[in-house]
Amino acid sequence: MKIEKDRVVRFHYAVAESGAESVESSKEGGKPLAILFGRGQVIPGLEKAMDGREAGDSFKANVPALEAYGEKREGLTQRIPKKHFGDQKLETGMQVVLQTNFGPRAVTIEKIGMSVVDVDLNHPMAGKDLDFDIEIVEVREASAEELEHGHVHGDGGYAH
Ligand code: ZN
Repeated sequence: MKIEKDRVVRFHYAVAESGAESVESSKEGGKPLAILFGRGQVIPGLEKAMDGREAGDSFKANVPALEAYGEKREGLTQRIPKKHFGDQKLETGMQVVLQTNFGPRAVTIEKIGMSVVDVDLNHPMAGKDLDFDIEIVEVREASAEELEHGHVHGDGGYAH
């Protein structure tokens, strides 16, 4: 069965900045990721690369920044009181997760002052071309309930 819109796809992935070592892999946790295909649950470039593939396919996909997390935007620096970072030791260039009104958000530390910290709100992978290694584990029809909820149930998906 081929991957197409509204089918359930379970897959392993490893991702790296182009030319670098892989920084994140679903194999570390052992469980494939499960998505309802064609609904923007993965970055656009990856969706494009997966379209039409089948279970058992392994392939590499190079995704340019524009089809990944977008270009890095200027002016996304924000000054935040140091106390919001708790006890963690801070370093320039480090990525930390801040609790915001919109949920947890990964930011990059730009500058550390006495009582404030400047952080860059760009996605850590913004402006980067990404290399993916993909292994399609399963492709199946989504159930009516999954289509209605807009996400996958069961293995690798939501349990409720
Ligand atoms: Zn659900």
